Amino acid sequence: MDNISIEKIRKDFPVINRLVKGKPIIYFDNACQSLVPKQVIDEIVDYYNNYSSCAGRSIHYLSTQVSLKFEASRDRAAKFFNTKSNEIVFVRNTTEGINLVARSYPFEKGDVILTTDREHNSNLSIWHVLKEEKGIIHKAVPSKEDNLFDLEAFKGMIDSKVKMISMAHVSNLDGVEIPVKDIIDIAHSKNIPVMLDGAQAAPHMKIDLKKMDVDFYSISLHKMCGPTGTGILYGKYDLLKNLKPFIVGGSTVANTFIDKTVFLDPPERFEAGLQNYANVIASAKSFDYLSNIGMDFINERVKELNKTITNGLKDIPEISIIGPVDSDLRSGIFPFNIKGMSPHDVAMILDEFENIYIRSGRHCDHSWFNKKGISGSARASLQFYNTKEEAKKFVETVIKIIDSFSKLKKNG
Ligand code: PLP
Repeated sequence: MDNISIEKIRKDFPVINRLVKGKPIIYFDNACQSLVPKQVIDEIVDYYNNYSSCAGRSIHYLSTQVSLKFEASRDRAAKFFNTKSNEIVFVRNTTEGINLVARSYPFEKGDVILTTDREHNSNLSIWHVLKEEKGIIHKAVPSKEDNLFDLEAFKGMIDSKVKMISMAHVSNLDGVEIPVKDIIDIAHSKNIPVMLDGAQAAPHMKIDLKKMDVDFYSISLHKMCGPTGTGILYGKYDLLKNLKPFIVGGSTVANTFIDKTVFLDPPERFEAGLQNYANVIASAKSFDYLSNIGMDFINERVKELNKTITNGLKDIPEISIIGPVDSDLRSGIFPFNIKGMSPHDVAMILDEFENIYIRSGRHCDHSWFNKKGISGSARASLQFYNTKEEAKKFVETVIKIIDSFSKLKKNG
């Protein structure tokens, strides 16, 4: 896709086109939350303007429209991820998807759960809670020095006590992808289910769940040009069926008696209470939007933008990059530190100088930073609507910050 098409695409995103303090903004915080195109926003507004009522309960005209559109979104998601509609559960976000499985899977005392040593807190804290509550054992596969996955170490940790492998497909720390095919093949040869945290993979990569043969997969729509607080848990149907209900009550039951509840089958069993209809319905438009652009194109584009940034900064002695230096191995993420400066200061100055918005801190990966004894990092994260000019501006501004900082230091 050429520049003209990107220009056209950018017109769809109201936030990209706003001015702050009279200047354009550069949004490089896409790993946290992506921007939303007007096609998705319009769909949300349409819900509230035209048929804002509930699905699945009342039988009037408006409610029926909601029910049909809600289920159409489920079908759209299933098509996007190449799976079946009854394997798609709408949740609030990746965190909820992982919690749902962790809490509902029949783990027993002594069962081992394997993660990597670089997990987002969303795929870590729950295992600590279950350690307290059920006596499960959490083990973390150590990554290699450059943060790449250590397949040999992983193989060495597989034994009959391992009852689930739960790992981030792509890390939010540094954009590194784990070798899912190898991991799933090895796990399945021992009958161990694999749950992947797809929060950072699904926004940039074509995810074919059938082909991948993963058992559970969670995503957040708000990282995929979709509405906030809306996510999906995928589970193979037989596995979903064996999960205990999670949050229970209205919409999850087939029938109740004073002394017992008969629950619905998945996916409804897991969608308790009135849902975020506007957002779920609008999520179909985000899948349409991403599909129209093409996930392969998106993957290539974020890597290309990351290459521009990486090549512009990697040889500067004051810069340290977290994870592999090769940008192709970091998808759309550029995590870095400037020697002597706090990552928060770097983020604030980028904002102050050029309206460049990045994230700084420990990115919900506290455990990795604690293990390494690093206080945090600055992180630029890219999406297809970012431009080469923005990437170059980022490089120039970081260099300007380094120069100003070293002048300040020299002048005492
Ligand atoms: N996992 C990874 C790898 C993430 O990057 C994030 C969010 O940044 C999450 C999980 C949690 O996502 P959410 O906050 O949407 O639940």
